[in-house]
Amino acid sequence: MTVRVRIAPSPTGNLHIGTARTAVFNWLFARHQGGQFILRVEDTDTERSKPEFTENILSGLGWLGLTWDEGPFFQSQRFDLYHQTIQTLLDQGLAYRAYDTPDELEAMREGMKAQGQAPRYDNRHRDLSPAQQAAFEAEGRPAVIRFKIDDQRTLSWHDLVRGTVTWQASDLGGDMVVARASAGGAIGQPLYNLAVVVDDIDMAITHVIRGEDHIANTAKQILLYEALGAAVPSFAHTPLILNQSGQKLSKRDGVTSISDFQAMGFVAPALANYMTLLGWSAPDARERFTLAEAAQMFSFDRVNKAGARFDWDKLDWLNSQYLHALDPVDLLDLALPFLHRAGYGPYGEGDRPWLLALMTLIGPSLTRLTDVVDQSRCFLTPTIEVQEDGRVQLQQPGAIEAIAALLAALTSPGAPTDLKDLKTLVDQVTQAQGVKKGLVMKSLRAALMGSLQGPDLMESWLILRQQQVDIPRLERALSQQSA
Ligand code: GLU
Repeated sequence: MTVRVRIAPSPTGNLHIGTARTAVFNWLFARHQGGQFILRVEDTDTERSKPEFTENILSGLGWLGLTWDEGPFFQSQRFDLYHQTIQTLLDQGLAYRAYDTPDELEAMREGMKAQGQAPRYDNRHRDLSPAQQAAFEAEGRPAVIRFKIDDQRTLSWHDLVRGTVTWQASDLGGDMVVARASAGGAIGQPLYNLAVVVDDIDMAITHVIRGEDHIANTAKQILLYEALGAAVPSFAHTPLILNQSGQKLSKRDGVTSISDFQAMGFVAPALANYMTLLGWSAPDARERFTLAEAAQMFSFDRVNKAGARFDWDKLDWLNSQYLHALDPVDLLDLALPFLHRAGYGPYGEGDRPWLLALMTLIGPSLTRLTDVVDQSRCFLTPTIEVQEDGRVQLQQPGAIEAIAALLAALTSPGAPTDLKDLKTLVDQVTQAQGVKKGLVMKSLRAALMGSLQGPDLMESWLILRQQQVDIPRLERALSQQSA
């Protein structure tokens, strides 16, 4: 048997972290088993589904490296198949038209609540006589299609994560709506449980791997598989992702979609790695791995039943590990969109040497790609404001003289252009001025970078020199102090 799994996102929002993590587990299982991973866009809800969300979902999955083998299939293009199936269920007496109005349903539920019962559909239109049905039709009442649920049944399946799961059919809310209301004997818009089962059968899905919020749907869907005479696939319900206080991660926690994480400066391999750890652990307790490496080790035995707590520190740590391992060319590719978004650039070929030197300089201290902007600011604009600590430094005795001596050397023929010569120059000025080297270095830093904090001074200087902004900055510091 070839394993066939699917991810079935609804394009009613951007790619959600929960959906993406479910996609990761599907992908890992498919790759581990040498099976197929199928992408199906569940866009039957024509009002809430939007092409821009489909676009976001597809690009998010692609960005994470969750390549699919078939699809994307769109449920909106498969309505005929769902309608045929619903017609078959109607023909076989396994489903029926129910004509209840929203007010009637509301009154029914209120009545149950008043008697202390859990609200459910009481199957009142299950056995309408042809005359009753004709009367509702004559009234022009729209009808939903309901699939009969035998309350006596107990549903049980072996879940690959949770072991034996058992549901009483009587807890499923009564006969289930499989198509929305429609008048005149037509079949209305098919609903999720029906469409998903029709597709999972049609696409020969062997394993349904999805979030635990779908457990009750699984019980309903098993009844549909049986009604349609199809083999029931295996199920794996993956744990929810929780926030720090143990509640389901939601929009209130700041970010929920993959594009948010992307914009916050997380890189795809780090996020994919982290999502794999949300509910799964490697047999050798390794925490850093590629998706391909995780696929080799993946099994449902090591997927937790308990919810997975989202840990920002861990994600940041993983992200920094990936960023630190990048070579400057790759880091620059990833960083440029962040620089552009912050209003810097565009940069040409001539800028590449200093940009690459800048990536080499700051790379080891990055946690997120957004840090590139914060840590690079003083390299990205020609002039900078000197901060308070810089001003104080430049007022130290001997500071201005040191800057003046450096400037004199930089504006003379044969001025240094590489790191070694810049270092020699600092030593020469230190000696000539008869001051401590620390004074020259700190004053130089204050004049070039505006502050006493920052990355390696000599490397920074070289980057500024490549952009020809070191001399103007030193001149400015000089004129401001002598003014
Ligand atoms: N469209 C459903 C969702 O996004 C799919 C659930 C399933 O995998 O069956 O939750």
